Amino acid sequence: MNGHFAAVDNGNGSSPDSNAHNFEHGIQVINEDKQYNTNLNEYLNETHVAEAGFNYHLISVFGSQSTGKSTLLNHLFGTQFSVMSERERRQTTKGIWMSKNKNEGKMADNILVMDVEGTDGRERGEDQDFERKSALFALATSEVLIVNIWEHQVGLYQGANMGLLKTVFEVNMQLFLKDKQNQTRSLLFFVIRDHIGVTPLANLRNTLIQDLTHIWSSISKPAGLENSKIEDYFDFAFAALPHKILQPDKFISEVQKLGSRFIAGHRNKDSDATDDQELTGGVFLPEYHRRIPADGLSIYAEGIWDQIVSNKDLDLPTQQELLAQFRCDEIAREVQIAFDAAIAPLEEQQAESTRAGKPAVLPDLGQIGAEAREKCVKNFETQASRYHKGVYTTKRAELEDKIDNRLKALYQAHLTAAHKAGVTAFSDAVTNAVKAGQKAGGAYEFAEIVEKQKTKTLEIFKKEAQSLAIPGVAWSNFKPQYLIFEKELDEVSARLRKEEMRRLAIRVERWVKSRLGDAIGLEFNKLGSGRGGSGAPESGEKPATEKDIWDRVWKAFISIVGEAESRFTDRAKSFEASDDEVQVGLWRLRRKSWVALREKIEEEVMESNILMKLRENFEDKFRYDEDGVPRIWRPSDDIEGIYTRARESTLGLVPLLSRFRLTSTSAPPDLIEFVGPQPHGVEPGDEEDLTPIGGVDEDEGKSLEEETTILSEPKKQDLVVRFKKMADGVYVEAKRSAIGGITQ
Ligand code: GDP
Ligand code: MG
Repeated sequence: MNGHFAAVDNGNGSSPDSNAHNFEHGIQVINEDKQYNTNLNEYLNETHVAEAGFNYHLISVFGSQSTGKSTLLNHLFGTQFSVMSERERRQTTKGIWMSKNKNEGKMADNILVMDVEGTDGRERGEDQDFERKSALFALATSEVLIVNIWEHQVGLYQGANMGLLKTVFEVNMQLFLKDKQNQTRSLLFFVIRDHIGVTPLANLRNTLIQDLTHIWSSISKPAGLENSKIEDYFDFAFAALPHKILQPDKFISEVQKLGSRFIAGHRNKDSDATDDQELTGGVFLPEYHRRIPADGLSIYAEGIWDQIVSNKDLDLPTQQELLAQFRCDEIAREVQIAFDAAIAPLEEQQAESTRAGKPAVLPDLGQIGAEAREKCVKNFETQASRYHKGVYTTKRAELEDKIDNRLKALYQAHLTAAHKAGVTAFSDAVTNAVKAGQKAGGAYEFAEIVEKQKTKTLEIFKKEAQSLAIPGVAWSNFKPQYLIFEKELDEVSARLRKEEMRRLAIRVERWVKSRLGDAIGLEFNKLGSGRGGSGAPESGEKPATEKDIWDRVWKAFISIVGEAESRFTDRAKSFEASDDEVQVGLWRLRRKSWVALREKIEEEVMESNILMKLRENFEDKFRYDEDGVPRIWRPSDDIEGIYTRARESTLGLVPLLSRFRLTSTSAPPDLIEFVGPQPHGVEPGDEEDLTPIGGVDEDEGKSLEEETTILSEPKKQDLVVRFKKMADGVYVEAKRSAIGGITQ
C-alpha cells in the first residue's frame, strides 16, 4: 500500500526506502484511490503527537479548488502542503493530506491540519462522491473546519461553495443519526479571502449566517431530526484576509493575527449563540474535541474511512468501542512486557526448583510481584482509560485477571514451598532439641520445646504470607494458608508427641522389666529354702509360705505396675498428652507388663532353673532338721521316712507352680480387670506390637486358663521324673554316709 502514497509531493518523488518515511512535508492520509494510509500512526509517533493523549487538535480546510487553501495553511501553520504552481496552473490531485503545525509557540499544542484536496467536484463537473466522503471524514474527526471563500463569493447563495456547505450539513446529519446523544459540536471557521475592506467583516458575517440558515432549512433532515437547528451542531467564526499578491505585508500580518486565534477557548457564560463573538479566548472549545486519544487516532480514522468508503452508515459510538477494544488489547500487551520481564524469571526459577523436587522459597517475591502488578495496571490505566469507559473497565479486569492468575500461581507455589520447608524445619528442630535433651540427661520439657518451635516456625510463615499481600487485592490475603499451616504443625506436633510417648513407654517398660526381674527372682529364690517355705522371715511380716507364692508375685507385680503407671501418667501429662493418649499408653503398659511378668516367670521355671530350686527345697527339708541344723545321718535314723516326707513336700510344689492361682480365689488373677477395656483412642498402630493375652483377647483362641498355665502337663511329668531321680541320688548318698559313719 505504501507504494500508492507519497510522503510529500515536493518534486523529488517519494523516499526510495519505504521503511524510512520522510514526513517533512506531512503525510497523505487518503490518496486519490480512496485508500487509507496506515503509516499515519508512524507519523503521529514521529511528531510526538501520539503520546499527547487528548492534548492535540484536528483542523480541516474546505473550499473550492484554487482558492488559496494550501497557501493559507502553509502560512498559518508552517506546513508545506503543495500549492498550485503559478506558472503551470496544473490540477492538484485529490486526497487528504495531514501535517503537524510547525509554528507552535503562540498556538495550542499539537495542532494537526488536514488539507482536503479535490473537494467541490461540482466545480469541475465531476461527481460529488469524493466531496461527500472527505467531508464526512473531516467532520467525524475535526474540531474546526476552515471554510475558505473569496469575498466576491459571499452572498452568491447559488454559488458552488454553497453547494459544498450543503454537503457538509447533510453528511453531518448522518453522524448524529446513530448517535443522538452526541454532544460534540464543530466550529465552521469562515476565512474570507481577498477582502478588499469596502464591506466590513460584520456585514459579510451577517450575509453568510443568513445564507447558512437558508441552506440549513433547505436540506432534508432524517426522521427524528426534522426540527434540529443549525446551532445544535455548529458554531461559527469569521475572519477576513487581504489579497496576498496585492497586499503581501498586510496579508502576512493578518495571517499572524489569525494564527493567534488557534488556542484554547471557552463559551461565554449563559450564551447559547453560535457566533464567535460569544467565544472567549481561542477557537478550540473542549466540546469540539472528538475525545479520541492521539495514540488511537490512526486506527480510529482508518475505521471511519473504511465505513465511509464502503458506504455504510457511520456509527461513531460503535467505531469508538471497536477502537477501544483494539487499543486496550494493544496497550495490555505492551504493559505486560515489563510485567513479564519481572515475573517470568521467577516462574522459571520456581518451575525448575519444583522439577528438581526442591520447591524454592523465592526471596522478595511479594515486593517484586506487587511492584510489577502495580506498574502494569497503572500503565494500562494511564493509556487505556482515555478510551471508551465500558470497554476500558472490562479490559482492565481482563488484564488484572491475567496477571493475577500468574501471580496467584506463583504465590501459591511459593507458600506451598514455605509450608513444606516450615514443617520440615519444625519437625527437625523439635527432634534435635529432644535429642539434645536426652543427651543432657533427659531433663527436657517436650511441651516447651514444641511450643517454642511452633511459635518460631509460625512467625516465619506469617511473615512470608504477609509479604505477599497486595493492599486492596482480596486474593492476596493468605490467612487461610496460614491456618492450614498451623493445623499441619499441630498434626506434626501430635505425631512427635506420640513418638515421645513411645519413647517414654519404652523407658517405663524397661523399668518395669528390671523391677520385675528383681522382685520375681526374689520370690522364686525363696523356694530354695524348704523349711516351711520361709527363709528368714523378716520381723513383723507374716511368714511367707510356699503356698502363697503367686499371691506374693501378683502383689509385687501390681505394685510395680502401679508405680510405673503413675510415672508414665506424670510424664505424659507434662508434655500435654491428651487423656486418650494417656489412657492408651497405660493400657499398653499394663499389657506389656503382664507379658514381661510371664516372660520372667517362664525364665524362672525353665528346666534347669526350676530343677535347681526344687533340689534346694528338697535338700533343705531333707538335710536340715526343724531348727535348721544339718543332719548327720546315723544308721538308726529314719532316713527313708525323712526322705519320703521331704520328697513329697517338694513334689507338692510342682502342681502349685504349674498354675498361676491366687489363694484367695483359687483362681487365676483377673487379667481382664487388670488390663482394663480397650480405650477408644487406640489406633491400628497402637496394637501392632502387642502380644495377645489369653482370656483378654478373646479372638486369639487362648483361654485365661492357658494364659496362666506355667508348666504344661508333659513338662510337669518330666520335671517330676527328673526331680525324683535327683532326690533318689541324694537319698542313696545319705544312706551311704550313714553306714560309712558306723564303719568309721
Ligand atoms: P488551493 O487549491 O485552494 O489549495 O489553492 P493554492 O494554495 O494551491 O493556490 C492557488 C493559487 O492561488 C496559487 O496560484 C496561489 O498563488 C494563489 N493564491 C494563494 N493565495 C491567494 C490569495 O490570497 N489571493 C489570491 N488572489 N490568490 C492567491
Ligand atoms: Mg491545495
